[in-house]
Amino acid sequence: MSDEFDAVILGGGPAGSTVATLLAQAGQQVVVLEKEHFPRYHIGESLLPATVGIFERLGVHDAIRDSSVLKPGGKWLYGSDEVPGDFSKYDEQATFKKTPYSYLVDRAIFDRILLDRSADCGADVRYGHEVTDLIQEHGRVTGVTAADESGHKAEYRGRLVIDATGLGAVIGRRLKLRQPTVNQRMGIYAQYRAEPVRQDAIDGWFTGQMFYDGWTWLINLPDDTISVGVVLPVERFRQINANPGELLDRMVRENVLLKNGMTPNPERVSEVRVTGNMGNTSKQLTGDGWVMVGDAGFFIDPCYSSGVHVAMESGTMAADTFLAQPNDAPIPASAFRQYESKLWNHEKYVTRMVEAFYMASRNTSLQKMIVTMQDSFLKSLRRKFVTFVGGDFSKNSGYISRVFLYSKFISWLFPNNTTRPENRPDYLIDAVVPFEFAVTDDKPTRRKVA
Ligand SMILES: Cc1cc2nc3c(=O)[nH]c(=O)nc-3n(C[C@H](O)[C@H](O)[C@H](O)COP(=O)(O)OP(=O)(O)OC[C@H]3O[C@@H](n4cnc5c(N)ncnc54)[C@H](O)[C@@H]3O)c2cc1C
Repeated sequence: MSDEFDAVILGGGPAGSTVATLLAQAGQQVVVLEKEHFPRYHIGESLLPATVGIFERLGVHDAIRDSSVLKPGGKWLYGSDEVPGDFSKYDEQATFKKTPYSYLVDRAIFDRILLDRSADCGADVRYGHEVTDLIQEHGRVTGVTAADESGHKAEYRGRLVIDATGLGAVIGRRLKLRQPTVNQRMGIYAQYRAEPVRQDAIDGWFTGQMFYDGWTWLINLPDDTISVGVVLPVERFRQINANPGELLDRMVRENVLLKNGMTPNPERVSEVRVTGNMGNTSKQLTGDGWVMVGDAGFFIDPCYSSGVHVAMESGTMAADTFLAQPNDAPIPASAFRQYESKLWNHEKYVTRMVEAFYMASRNTSLQKMIVTMQDSFLKSLRRKFVTFVGGDFSKNSGYISRVFLYSKFISWLFPNNTTRPENRPDYLIDAVVPFEFAVTDDKPTRRKVA
């Protein structure tokens, strides 16, 4: 016995709930199989202005605004310089001209608002249902098997199976399509009870500080806590004689952004969480009977806070593509060609900008160039940058390619102008980095710290 739907959606994060709401609003029969019960914790608290239009389309903007901190932009500290990305300073290509702001959210609340909306619109949302297998017939995916919490398994079939399981990536793993990106980085993060001290953080700005090949963040959350995290190469972490909790607590005590950005002695009020090997992509994003949305397709790096936007934009595009197909017929892979090519563009340009970001984290000449770009005669370039960081990832593609190539060129031209702490002791004092820890051969400790 199996239940029949128009679409079977795996996972109820932002990607899954977006597609579920849009299909249900159009009268389609959809089921969402979500293994957790909401509200549940999730990382990804800093959002982009390009997503606000999607909130409006889904009918959730008011609820999100009421439960969030308004975010006017993001600010990066490079040594002693500060580079703001003010969302109101977009260029003429920007899609977010009407809403040049976004939000800092508690994902437990945000994700619940989105999935409640799907249910209100008629989606059949089943919490505590873990997808365990794909059903394939004659080379096409026709459904899935999911287990409820009592272990009872059932089959769910549909014209389309939409994988929105995030890094769980059910289809990518089952069909062996997953592939790691070249630069493997990890994130270590937790929430602290403290008051923000920096005016930009108080005002809702995302704040981040670069160090050699990595960065920290400080985000003022709506429930009077502060989200703190560090991103660094997995290999680097392997060389550090510290567990994730020790590393994060030490960063909080000694990193310039974190120690000066919050009131002293902040109390950690969550467990320390780790996401290892963050960069993943897929050999393909669609196939006969299935499509991937959000992180299930690819996730490059959190440095541009791009994840939730890609999740919700891909959810929107997948829903629109589905609705353009004739009713009652199975959906062929060819229907999603445009979808796939648009998402590959996002992946390509986000990857280029992420690589440029980390080149800048390593090279002081590049950092100086970026700081100079804020000056008047280069303001138009700055506006293109704001349009990109606002979530318009595939606009200004020529500009993005030039940023990437110039970054490579400058890094090649000035290899000695590095932020490596051993070359720049002053920089080390500014931004305490894991190089300070003793190097050992120990394997990383991935345990969660209570
Ligand atoms: C360190 C770090 C920092 C980040 N910071 C940001 C940020 O500031 N801003 C930003 O936009 N993004 C950020 N991200 C990325 C962001 O977390 C994701 O891109 C975003 O959550 C993707 O949404 P999604 O709906 O695709 O997947 P998810 O939000 O992961 O949702 C997937 C859902 O599927 C469910 N699921 C998984 N497996 C199964 C299964 N087998 N059966 C049923 N259900 C299942 C899960 O329980 C989950 O609810 C960050 C990521 C990391 C690692």
